[in-house]
Amino acid sequence: MCGMCLPHCPTYRVYRSESDSPRGRIALMSALAQGELLDDPRLRLHLDRCLACRACEAMCPSEVPYGQLIDAGRAMLEQHRPPAPWPRLLRWIGADLLLARPRRLRPLAKLLRLSQRSGMDRLAPLLGLGAAARLLPPLQPLPKWHDYYPPGLPKQGDVALFLGCIASVVDSPTSLAAIRVLNRLGYGVYVPSAQVCCGAVHQHAGRPERALASIRANLRVFAGLPVQAVIGTASGCTAMLQDYPCRLGEDSEPAAATPPGLPAPVRDISDFLTGVTWPTGLAPAPTPLRVTLHNPCTLLRVLHKGDAPGRLLERIPSLEVCTLEEKGRCCGAAGTHMLTHPSLARALRGELLDEIEQQAPDVLATSNIGCALHLRAGLRERGLDPEVLHPVQLLSRAIA
Ligand code: SF4
Ligand code: SF4
Repeated sequence: MCGMCLPHCPTYRVYRSESDSPRGRIALMSALAQGELLDDPRLRLHLDRCLACRACEAMCPSEVPYGQLIDAGRAMLEQHRPPAPWPRLLRWIGADLLLARPRRLRPLAKLLRLSQRSGMDRLAPLLGLGAAARLLPPLQPLPKWHDYYPPGLPKQGDVALFLGCIASVVDSPTSLAAIRVLNRLGYGVYVPSAQVCCGAVHQHAGRPERALASIRANLRVFAGLPVQAVIGTASGCTAMLQDYPCRLGEDSEPAAATPPGLPAPVRDISDFLTGVTWPTGLAPAPTPLRVTLHNPCTLLRVLHKGDAPGRLLERIPSLEVCTLEEKGRCCGAAGTHMLTHPSLARALRGELLDEIEQQAPDVLATSNIGCALHLRAGLRERGLDPEVLHPVQLLSRAIA
């Protein structure tokens, strides 16, 4: 327990307390598992505050698998004492009923769009929903997804696209941009309509059984597709999809009808696009914009593809790309963390916003929907208005 991870932990930087550091949390979880400590609200708070950003794991000389430990620790707490009835009901509505079946989010998204257009969303704070409403970007009309988007010629192959739950309703422009670029590069795109949430929300909330239900559902939906890659645009979801084999390894009751895995390797969209052959004559148009590139924790430390968006954007002439000083500094979004721990999330976001403000970009580019929502809301609060886009949206515009 050398402590080398401590200076890299965002919660330790904010709270300066051993219990809010990776080493402290490992000690707390170990004591809990051995019955030396009782489950109490303070212990829960220290484990809850962890962003699962895995900055500690990346710095650990002993290769302690912190990501797995914190998931297991939270599962242990969930077993000790499940939440009280009212929070449990809210969680059931939010995570189990809506997120787990993204098609159920569509009517809600239409209602939210209507409220934004009519100005009714200004009443959200009266209902205690101000924080959630501030996170929403101006919602676009929801597309009607097709099962298959045929490629341009010459055809190079087929891929499948994972839409995500929240991303499928608040970030459909990124998915449409990904399809457009893939088609232009000669890839047909399957978009299975019955796909569900990747399961990350449940996995990181200490509910591995619920996550496994999502995993099994997705494996059935994607099974047998004749594709060479399963592509994700949100790095948080892509990281979870890539982790499916590990999660299935923990499944004590494999369902007989569940396929053993996804039909092809899981790839981040930027990484995939930088690795394939581009048709001769497909040249992105010069785009004289200044772009700040944000690197989500999951892209950098879980997928290990932190350089892919930068390499992709190098293909666009005249684009000026600025990087942030400390690559992969957590913005505080961390799934639902930005809603459940708003003051910590704001403190961490503030450090990044200061640097973005100094760079004064036209566009902030990030590859994860949670980070995009959280950073966009912070920029708006400061009266700053760079567009917040996924790198693939910039590319799609440049080759339109
Ligand atoms: S998690 Fe790794 S880096 Fe952190 S204290 Fe333990 S051994 Fe050291
Ligand atoms: S995952 Fe991130 S927040 Fe959690 S202990 Fe590690 S560095 Fe700290």
